[in-house]
Amino acid sequence: MSRFFSRNFAALTPYTPGEQPQDKQYIKLNTNESPFPPSPRAQAMATKAAAHLELYPDPTCRALRERLGALHGLTADEVIVTNGSDEVLSFAFMAYGDNGVMFPDITYGFYRVFAQLYRLPYTEVPLKEDFTIAIEDYKGRQETVFIANPNAPTGKALSRAEIRQVLENNRDNVVVVDEAYVDFGAESAVPLVKEYDNLLVVQTFSKSRSMAGARLGYAFGNAAIIADLETIKYSTNPYNVNRLTLLLGEATVEAEDYYQSKCAAIRATRNWTAKALESLGFEVLPSDANFLFARSPQVSGETMYTALKKKGILVRHFTNPKISDFNRITIGTPEQMEVFITKVKEVLYENL
Ligand SMILES: *Cc1c(COP(=O)(O)O)cnc(C)c1O
Repeated sequence: MSRFFSRNFAALTPYTPGEQPQDKQYIKLNTNESPFPPSPRAQAMATKAAAHLELYPDPTCRALRERLGALHGLTADEVIVTNGSDEVLSFAFMAYGDNGVMFPDITYGFYRVFAQLYRLPYTEVPLKEDFTIAIEDYKGRQETVFIANPNAPTGKALSRAEIRQVLENNRDNVVVVDEAYVDFGAESAVPLVKEYDNLLVVQTFSKSRSMAGARLGYAFGNAAIIADLETIKYSTNPYNVNRLTLLLGEATVEAEDYYQSKCAAIRATRNWTAKALESLGFEVLPSDANFLFARSPQVSGETMYTALKKKGILVRHFTNPKISDFNRITIGTPEQMEVFITKVKEVLYENL
């Protein structure tokens, strides 16, 4: 730290992204990316957009907002488009933090970082013993509620009826539902946007839409909520989404069938992988996402992580003692998961 750094940020512990090592080729099962490339149409769009990079992008992101809205029966005024969903989450913490914020103790690690960055009082609500969210704890609150649904890194989703209960019991504070993984099998809260003026639903192109590298996120909410977030966007970075990414996004929305079939493939591979791990003695939490959270009674989470890395496979290990027995395993292609299971067997054998 330099001696010039603001006192406001000196104590900040920044978010630690999953490893993106450049030293060798790994089977990357650590950051929940899609194992499939973007649709051919989306790739072609990027080339086309490259010819006009001398111009700024449309700061209103109008065309993409209209398309995203149309997909869900909403208008462009009920959609905001951002540089990854991390950015719209950041805006929501800024916009709705005055009465504090709350989120599960085991969830997306960025929530705590944003709370600290914006110096908001925050409550971390323990998960139940089975690692699911106890919705009773989120009723009748003062704070803004942040729920990842499905939750990460645990994988289980709440039903739309449960999300509705949380909304119903927090009419005077905002509820943010982060649906980064919703396309892998959970019920979306988007149909509730018309009913609840306190709901913000956050989604991303990073996981189910094979575009983690393009950085594109979005959120749906009542037009007044979206206007708040636009105020923050225009006060920080009006051209937050670049020209290439905007066009890629539009082409992606038009390739729903391509992505739906990839999501179905990932669900099938997820179920195969869960069974394979269970047959090796692992406890595997039920997952509605494109990853599994699993622990072996025989080998510690850290040993498994380290041994797999040596064998060329990256999974995500968290040091938080509540979940340090586990690893989070992104679902790749069937071929990748077969190699993964072979390597897991080797590690188990080497640690008998
Ligand atoms: C990956 C992830 C995000 C952020 O994704 P972006 O790449 O910034 O869109 C947000 N929330 C959760 C729960 C995630 O897992």
